[in-house]
Amino acid sequence: MVDFAITARQQELRDIARDFAVNYIIPAADKADRNPDPANSFDWSIIREASKRGLRSLSIPKEYGGEGADVLTLAMVGEQLAYGDLGIAVAFDQTWKIMTALAHLANEDQRKRWIPRILDDPDFLLAVGATEPLFGSDNLLPYDAPGSGMQMTAERKGDKWILNGTKRYISNGGLAKLYYILARNDPKGSLVSSLSSFLIPAGTPGFTVTEVWDKLGQRAVQNGTLVFENVEVPDRERVGEIGSALPALGTLLLGFGSNIQAGATVLGVAQRAYDVSLQYAFERKQGGVPIVEHQIQRVRLARMAMKLQAVRSYLWFAGWDCRQKNFDPKHASLSKIFASEESVEVCKQALELWGATGYMRKNPVEKLLRDALSFLHSDGTNDVLSLKAANYIVKERPSPEHPTYSKRVAEAAQGR
Ligand SMILES: Cc1cc2nc3c(=O)[nH]c(=O)nc-3n(C[C@H](O)[C@H](O)[C@H](O)COP(=O)(O)OP(=O)(O)OC[C@H]3O[C@@H](n4cnc5c(N)ncnc54)[C@H](O)[C@@H]3O)c2cc1C
Repeated sequence: MVDFAITARQQELRDIARDFAVNYIIPAADKADRNPDPANSFDWSIIREASKRGLRSLSIPKEYGGEGADVLTLAMVGEQLAYGDLGIAVAFDQTWKIMTALAHLANEDQRKRWIPRILDDPDFLLAVGATEPLFGSDNLLPYDAPGSGMQMTAERKGDKWILNGTKRYISNGGLAKLYYILARNDPKGSLVSSLSSFLIPAGTPGFTVTEVWDKLGQRAVQNGTLVFENVEVPDRERVGEIGSALPALGTLLLGFGSNIQAGATVLGVAQRAYDVSLQYAFERKQGGVPIVEHQIQRVRLARMAMKLQAVRSYLWFAGWDCRQKNFDPKHASLSKIFASEESVEVCKQALELWGATGYMRKNPVEKLLRDALSFLHSDGTNDVLSLKAANYIVKERPSPEHPTYSKRVAEAAQGR
């Protein structure tokens, strides 16, 4: 039975996050959005205030002193934080995802060493590095061809690994204190069997952040280029078995809800676009009446509300489903595609309703559209996520024994 009714604790966390978004994030993020220097726009006071409220460490398991929030709860809270600002929500969401990975993929020694440090340090953010200058989607949709996909190398030398390579566009790059980095232990093998992952603290000799990208949206968070030159990593910081990181990352994206959480954050942006548009429609007058009195604007608002609720319902379903025993893996990527595309559409409709005023930078709508656009590509391009979902769909071919199998459809397909 499908059941994702909101618990009292989920409602409480949503309220805390919404209050925080309105009172702390919105004013700070507007300033960050206008800062021309992306390397100096991040506001650490937001992270510290959020840490006081337990928001940063939500996904740390209860046995390690965290909230133990599941994907559905993280999606609910992520939406509320992104209502304040998408970039800030991403800073938290990336941290939650890597905490989840640590909790599920790291060994007991790694969990005992890292989780208390993450929990106790109010500034502790995390990041994951997969994308490289020459390999983006190839890391998400592997064709199992030898040598394809990311090329950063990890060479074993006794009880150490030597890492060389470059990662780019990494969210929290330059902000995180710990990085979950993927590298090839065998550059000639296929991605599925030759990728290993490592925990690398900021400040490790040979590891530098060489560029903070100047972005169209999500300007309140940093996306960095990470360069690794002969970086020595002790074997005790290798996560999981040698060569098994891709299947583990696959589990992170599907079972741990990476796409679902991403979709929920972009929904928060669209919800804000709707809310500011509803207010504007009552207060802006044209033709002698508030524009909400014009039928076309009312219908526009109604259709925006419909999209928001449809996206939220799908994300909550996917968040619930991914925790079931026989979950359907296509919903993780499909719900992110749906959330990002419909959220962009809601923001575009908001811009239409605001007219030229929405296009002006001192008003909220143009930023919301710029922010929402990022998730057409981030966390996997929608093209590539569609292809992934399609790979599951082709495995669902109806068999002639199935009760819904139609002889007439089979005859029609044969031209009869
Ligand atoms: C805001 C933001 C935050 C990000 N954060 C992180 C992060 O924290 N960590 C990280 O590792 N990465 C991060 N990324 C990188 C992101 O995951 C990649 O950008 C994404 O995977 C696409 O890679 P690419 O940009 O190199 O595009 P490419 O892979 O070069 O794709 C170019 C075009 O080709 C299409 N394409 C690619 N392969 C196929 C195919 N097989 N069939 C058909 N079409 C195809 C794509 O859909 C796209 O339209 C972030 C990106 C953004 C924008």
